[in-house]
Amino acid sequence: MRSVVAAGAEALVVTHAPDVRYLSGFTGSSGAVALVGGRAALFTDGRYSTQAKAEAEGVRVVIDRRVPAVQAVEWLAAAGVKKCAFDAEQTTVVALESMKKAVPGTLRRSFLVATEGLVARLRQVKDEDEIERMRRAAALGCGLFDAVLQYVVPGATEAGVAAQLEFMARLAGAEAMSFETIVASGERSALPHGRATDAKLPAQGFVTLDFGVVLEGYCSDMTRTVHLGRGNEREWDVYHSVLEAQQAAIAAVAAGVRCGKVDEAARSVLRGAGLEKEFSHSTGHGVGLEIHEGPRIAAKQEQVLEPGMVITIEPGAYLSSGAASGVRRPGSRARGSGPDANAFGVRIEDMVLVTEGGCEVLTAASPKAWIEL
Ligand code: ZN
Ligand code: ZN
Repeated sequence: MRSVVAAGAEALVVTHAPDVRYLSGFTGSSGAVALVGGRAALFTDGRYSTQAKAEAEGVRVVIDRRVPAVQAVEWLAAAGVKKCAFDAEQTTVVALESMKKAVPGTLRRSFLVATEGLVARLRQVKDEDEIERMRRAAALGCGLFDAVLQYVVPGATEAGVAAQLEFMARLAGAEAMSFETIVASGERSALPHGRATDAKLPAQGFVTLDFGVVLEGYCSDMTRTVHLGRGNEREWDVYHSVLEAQQAAIAAVAAGVRCGKVDEAARSVLRGAGLEKEFSHSTGHGVGLEIHEGPRIAAKQEQVLEPGMVITIEPGAYLSSGAASGVRRPGSRARGSGPDANAFGVRIEDMVLVTEGGCEVLTAASPKAWIEL
């Protein structure tokens, strides 16, 4: 059982499944953890009776038909708790009403105290066991990228490439994909979140693969952009600007550094390349039991990186067909609007572990140099 002393709450009720898992080890989809002092209890229903007892070591397990959060609140009130924190970000209005009703009338108005992300904040810093799992998840992702390249051929569909990747992932032991696999080819590579469709891969153009696996509960996340056929000078320039931005951001990562500074490291490189507007999202995000966690690696974010955080670094540039032919690196040769005047996009993403002096790139096994297939 993990301690929540760091969260500073007298008592806490937790219902968000990844938080429940983090605190108790229980992986079922319906459960609540109640914490007070050194005591903890996990509440779930009969479907999970065997599983909960096996997974939640050192935690009292209560099986009941009623809503787990309601049971948790009743248990805490009966234990003499006067105030109990709950996570407003993860609690619906309906759930809050039913939790309130479970509190004795005299306490009802003051018992439940809204907080935000208490457990989510604890989860941002991974312990050694979590880091090992994330290393394994990241390594599995890298292996899949190598293996899927044989299917990235002109005429294959994006969905077909995604299906091969996901099939191999399951065979290799992945419990699930971390999110819907992104395969965005040709003009569709200009869509930052182009989910795989029945579009056919072109004879010439970029293909962006953004995917992750869930292994032992932990998510991986990586993106590589490869080129089918010969790339033109404009594509080469944009690819290398994005790569340079990504490497600059990785070089900026270290414990004690503000997240906004890491974002700016990537953004300033793309600004210098005339691609600031084309970088339309933030530089990265925390990853762990969930694919998107804190901290946010975005402009002006004041949060400071800590050793043990695992974050992504994923700048990109997405060019509409006008911009694809018109934006140049300062000093590069002017080019006409030839066959390169199509929309395209590039994103490169690694997962990194924040350390005292810098970071460890967990997805380093996959090459980031320009790949032509
Ligand atoms: Zn990703
Ligand atoms: Zn990501």
